[in-house]
Amino acid sequence: MAYDVTFIPGDGIGPEVSGAMRRVIEATGIEFNWDVQEAGEAVLEREGELIPDRVLDSIRKNGVGIKGPLTTPVGTGFRSANVALRKALDLYANLRPSKSYPGVRSRYTSVDIVVVRENTEDLYAGVEFEKDAEGTSEVIDFLRNASGQPIRDDSAISIKPISVTGSERIVRFAFEYAKANNRKLVTAVHKANIMKFSDGLFLEVAQNVAKDYPDIEFNDRIVDNLSMQMVSRPEEYDVLVLPNLYGDIISDLCAGLVGGLGLAPGGNIGENGAVFEPVHGSAPRYTGQNRVNPTATILTGALMLRHLGEQDAAERVEGAVAEVIREGKDVTYDFKPDRNDPSAVGTQEMADAIIKKMQSGKRS
Ligand code: NAD
Repeated sequence: MAYDVTFIPGDGIGPEVSGAMRRVIEATGIEFNWDVQEAGEAVLEREGELIPDRVLDSIRKNGVGIKGPLTTPVGTGFRSANVALRKALDLYANLRPSKSYPGVRSRYTSVDIVVVRENTEDLYAGVEFEKDAEGTSEVIDFLRNASGQPIRDDSAISIKPISVTGSERIVRFAFEYAKANNRKLVTAVHKANIMKFSDGLFLEVAQNVAKDYPDIEFNDRIVDNLSMQMVSRPEEYDVLVLPNLYGDIISDLCAGLVGGLGLAPGGNIGENGAVFEPVHGSAPRYTGQNRVNPTATILTGALMLRHLGEQDAAERVEGAVAEVIREGKDVTYDFKPDRNDPSAVGTQEMADAIIKKMQSGKRS
């Protein structure tokens, strides 16, 4: 059976890395009907939108999409197409695995952490009031009266909604992911000692959901303590579940622990669909040079294979990636100690080496 998948090549380096990914995951033998949907800068002039409705319709129909990064045009008034996509499809769970690969220059060698970030609530909900704008002083007056707390007249206000519904579905997602992927520990991350109602609610919901999963260990950490522990003993963590803002920051921290953006895959998942994308952006400076690292996007393809239930194919891709990186021969410039190392290969050549490794049946 072939899978129907929406394919968004992306802007900048997007078409290069997503094209490389496509070739690698097709080489697993799994068949795909790619529904190619251009989006982003490529269509803005022609269609007047970064994410035209046909793209959303295609993802809704297929249930799964995979995309290259999209550029957010500066000075056009357009907000990020990536955020718009997540909002339009209610892709509430942002999944970002970070794993150490031997051969990557990094201070850490045994990191294997999956960050599950809530994608729709928290300070990123977009409920903001600009300093001195119409209505802001009423909001300030209301909050002063309701809370009894002083708020300065020259304040801007951002609201942090955290709901039972939003918290429950993200924590349940983290536990279900742990169960399906043989993970042993889920850690809820919060600042409930200070934000007793919002983060306190997130923690309370997490503790309740955890009771439904007695086979998976559960604990919680305050986000500042977790940050310190992540850089001293990251090997103690497995699956982290976090509200939006902490999730954003901690997932980048995790990417840093394992060697940076060139290796960080991601997925945005909801009830009605899922869109997989690397964490990095469109790196416009490198467009068309066949130079950048395809690993993050290829690992994103493996993440999609897992989502489709193709665990064996996903493992073959991840194993071949690990082997090519460990050998350190057919890798892009960013794996080399010297960025101008002439032995570095191009984007497509690294993908070729990964395909060859898969076909030779070697596993890491
Ligand atoms: P970026 O991730 O594109 O680049 C940051 C740095 O990482 C640059 O030095 C770049 O050269 C390097 N880099 C990125 N990917 C790489 C790879 N695969 N191999 C080697 N090096 C790599 O971030 P930016 O410069 O802040 O953003 C550029 C554009 O991308 C912006 O328009 C931004 O809005 C967009 N963006 C999109 C997404 C997305 O589509 N999900 C995510 C982040 C940024």
